[in-house]
Amino acid sequence: MSQLPDFKSLILWTKFTLLHPKILSSYLALKRNERLSPDALAALNWQKRQRLLRFAYENVPYYRAKYDAAGLNPLDIRTPEQWESVPVLEKSELVKHLEDLKTRGVKPDRLRLSTTGGSTGVPVIVYFDKKFAMEPIRWRMLSWWGVGPGEDAAFAWRDFGWSALEKLRRSVLFWPTRRIYLDASLVTKSSLDAFVRQYQAVRPSLLQGYVGAIESLADFVIESGASFPPPKAVWLTAAPVSKTQRARMQAAFHAPVYDQYGCGEIYQIAAQCAHSENLHIFYDSVCVEFLDGNGRSVQTGQRGLIALTDLDNYVFPLIRYLNGDEGSAVAGQCACGVNLPLMGPIKGRDTDHLHLPQGGIIVGDFVTTIFDNDPDCIKAFQVYQKKDLGIDVRVVLNPAVPDARERVERVVAKMREKSLGLVEVRPVYMDEIVSDRGKTRYIVREK
Ligand SMILES: [Zn+2]
Repeated sequence: MSQLPDFKSLILWTKFTLLHPKILSSYLALKRNERLSPDALAALNWQKRQRLLRFAYENVPYYRAKYDAAGLNPLDIRTPEQWESVPVLEKSELVKHLEDLKTRGVKPDRLRLSTTGGSTGVPVIVYFDKKFAMEPIRWRMLSWWGVGPGEDAAFAWRDFGWSALEKLRRSVLFWPTRRIYLDASLVTKSSLDAFVRQYQAVRPSLLQGYVGAIESLADFVIESGASFPPPKAVWLTAAPVSKTQRARMQAAFHAPVYDQYGCGEIYQIAAQCAHSENLHIFYDSVCVEFLDGNGRSVQTGQRGLIALTDLDNYVFPLIRYLNGDEGSAVAGQCACGVNLPLMGPIKGRDTDHLHLPQGGIIVGDFVTTIFDNDPDCIKAFQVYQKKDLGIDVRVVLNPAVPDARERVERVVAKMREKSLGLVEVRPVYMDEIVSDRGKTRYIVREK
């Protein structure tokens, strides 16, 4: 660490060390790992993968049955090249074989249940090991942004429905750190107003939340002209973010905005550092692969299906799990000195494409970037495809830009060109675009 930890972070370290005696050494190990050479990191990742694969085969009924059926013996997987013959794990298997995916002999009170899903379909259940402390992974990421783990923080999250007891436990655990919350599932003018007042009093170092909620906050700050003491970092979770949104947030908060990638099945997968548009993969705790439809890796830089292997979860192993996202590996090393490999920003789910008659599609990647050259003229957008395949480009104009409407029309004309004149494309001007539980979806297809 280049800086000495602040006083509140020292207290937090002490308390967590009492709860998890090894937490400090795991943090220091992660800090060492990030500086390992790329080869040494790859070797570490491979060792952990191999160990997990063998463990799962011996101790998890579903993997035993699945690999036996595929004629695979994990002892035969001795090189990273052979890894691709390990079958991928689909979301539907998680839903169907939940019980058999648990490690045999693990006591139920050691399992922490996590439910995920929602906007993309069927909810999925996974289990985490209560004995495994996830904090060090988060603390390492915060260290990249110059934020200590015990510094005051503000969160825009959905309401977790914590009991009074849980709230008390958390306030004791985190004291004297001040933590304030905005309920991201229901953001209104009055809740934003109350949150901003609290924020002004606390002056947090970190602002964390879902893109949709942080975006509403940014709009509120810009429109109301409220003073907003800049945090050291704005941490975005749970949704892809466009350049337009990022620019507006930076203008509202006068602070760098960082993207973190995770999902309900594996919370911590990758995050931006202060030097790059890309994300460093937490390669010492998760293996991320980018695959074609046959489970084979695509070339570096090419887009593929994301397959995840959680290297630390031994109570409910996830091996080559397809979480439904797409992404790409990025070549080269980052100037920040962290050697963890890079991946490109997540741009959307595989289902987020527009469909044209006769089976054509307009890829989601293009659709999410249509306003990248005109970030100032709109406040929000969403591309909505109706059942008859007609496309509505929903836009909330920025009234401060005089030629905003003409520029939107030009973007819509480009979309029309892209759709080859096969479907109707029109702009629809709106006052607001409703987010889906805090997650803005750029592309919505009428069901
Ligand atoms: Zn970096």
